[in-house]
Amino acid sequence: MPVYRSEMLRRLEEEVFDLLVVGGGITGAGIAQDAAYRGLRTALVEKGDFGSGTSHASTKLLHGGLRYLEQGQLRLMYEALRERNRLARLAPGLAQWLPFLIPIYRRGWKMERMGAGLWLYDLLAGLPRGRVHRRISREEALALAPHLRPEGLRGAYLYYDCRTNDTRLVMEVLKSALRGGAVAANYARVVALEKEGGRVAGARIRDELTGREWTVRARCVVSAAGPWTDQVLALDRPGEPPRLRPSKGVHLVVPASRLPVAAAVLSPSPAGDGRFIFILPWEGAVVLGTTDTPYPGDPDRVTAEEADIDYILAAASQVFPEAGLTRADVISTFAGLRPLIGGNAATTAALPREHRIWVTPSGLIAVAGGKLTTYRTMAAAVTDRVLRHLRRPRVPCRTGNLPLGAETATEVEALARQFPELREPLVPGLPFRKADVAYAAREELAVLPEDVLHRRTRIALLSPAHGEPQRGVVADLLCRFGEEVAAGRGEGRDRAPGRY
Ligand SMILES: Cc1cc2nc3c(=O)[nH]c(=O)nc-3n(C[C@H](O)[C@H](O)[C@H](O)COP(=O)(O)OP(=O)(O)OC[C@H]3O[C@@H](n4cnc5c(N)ncnc54)[C@H](O)[C@@H]3O)c2cc1C
Repeated sequence: MPVYRSEMLRRLEEEVFDLLVVGGGITGAGIAQDAAYRGLRTALVEKGDFGSGTSHASTKLLHGGLRYLEQGQLRLMYEALRERNRLARLAPGLAQWLPFLIPIYRRGWKMERMGAGLWLYDLLAGLPRGRVHRRISREEALALAPHLRPEGLRGAYLYYDCRTNDTRLVMEVLKSALRGGAVAANYARVVALEKEGGRVAGARIRDELTGREWTVRARCVVSAAGPWTDQVLALDRPGEPPRLRPSKGVHLVVPASRLPVAAAVLSPSPAGDGRFIFILPWEGAVVLGTTDTPYPGDPDRVTAEEADIDYILAAASQVFPEAGLTRADVISTFAGLRPLIGGNAATTAALPREHRIWVTPSGLIAVAGGKLTTYRTMAAAVTDRVLRHLRRPRVPCRTGNLPLGAETATEVEALARQFPELREPLVPGLPFRKADVAYAAREELAVLPEDVLHRRTRIALLSPAHGEPQRGVVADLLCRFGEEVAAGRGEGRDRAPGRY
């Protein structure tokens, strides 16, 4: 059954909801899914496209986060490892196991501590069979990552985590929410909160494609606005001090041919700033990252600066000097803001990654922080709060056993069988077909070409031309299989091509 935005907008305007979720990143999508399956009449609005905030710009790992060992955040690590394992079971297409390699150059307490840390990592993960870490030889390490600096290399630790496609994960969670009965619209911005007797009772929404405004009525409103949390909270209580200390993280995408790796590589950053540099084989390319710098500016304008790109290239070149990576190798960059909760730590890198839930005196519930990996447990905690707020019986969370994304490939294939012209590839050398666009238009609420090029597929990141030559074809397919195209708009308009 096709899902169309106009139908979603009509329902948002006519129905009264138990819950309105503000924000369609992984957190909002997770809450909408959880709430819908617990029987709440649920709505979600997203000011841009689903997954266009932080959730498009992660390192694309479902992981426990080895770095949290240093910060002693064992609870977060335990929870994240359990969720990683669960997603690998529920969503095998979106959580693929991958070996991770930590090169060892020096003997010493740091490396011994890393080894002990990996034991703890495996123990907290329940010692997954066949995926417990081990030491490998220098030769094995070089076979997995041939461009590693060979001088002084003694071997490596090999451990396992999962790789994902973050915007696809958001979309599959959101589709699951829709199947559970939720209503959701992209390009629908909350511009004000509606109150009755001092209590939040809905929100004023602006359709960002037409400028039309209307009110969504809801008994409870949850903000899942990531780095925009302070802005949404200000709609409730203007002038409150900020609660977040956002930190910017940048990644680069380079062709796999320039940095062939059969495992992800994790190395302490040669800059000696206590960070790790990640090299991840991803969607046929390689992702390098990341930075961690305070970002007090407008979250809508975050982008990779020259200094970010230089930092990552310099770090990667020290880990892989043989590759000789230069600016010319960078296909694209992406930048996002970690919605970290403010604290006293000296650097954003040292801030905890746990989530926090606030309830304002007028009953607005806000959640921020956390990780892509732990979206489901965050959503469960928020939905528990919502049920209490609504004075509803405590229905148990059901998302722990819901498979994700199992039917998408079959449904795309069915479209390709029904319309043979959709079997044509979209971009030479990339695995996307016209059927992916038709499916995104019919089932995934894609309305603009960039929804398809940036998020339903990752053509904008993976193709050196960023999908620009395909824009017309995509727009035509959206017209034919969807219902609405607002040509000429685009969130990347004022950015250099390839920087997202
Ligand atoms: C560089 C980097 C690397 C990371 N790597 C990983 C990783 O590998 N693994 C991992 O588990 N986690 C990772 N994370 C963390 C993870 O990406 C985030 O925790 C997660 O994506 C946050 O999702 P969210 O839904 O809370 O926020 P967002 O994805 O930002 O979603 C919030 C949404 O709210 C919308 N919104 C804001 N205001 C309004 C409004 N007024 N009306 C309607 N909608 C509104 C925004 O448009 C946005 O889409 C990383 C984060 C960063 C920055």
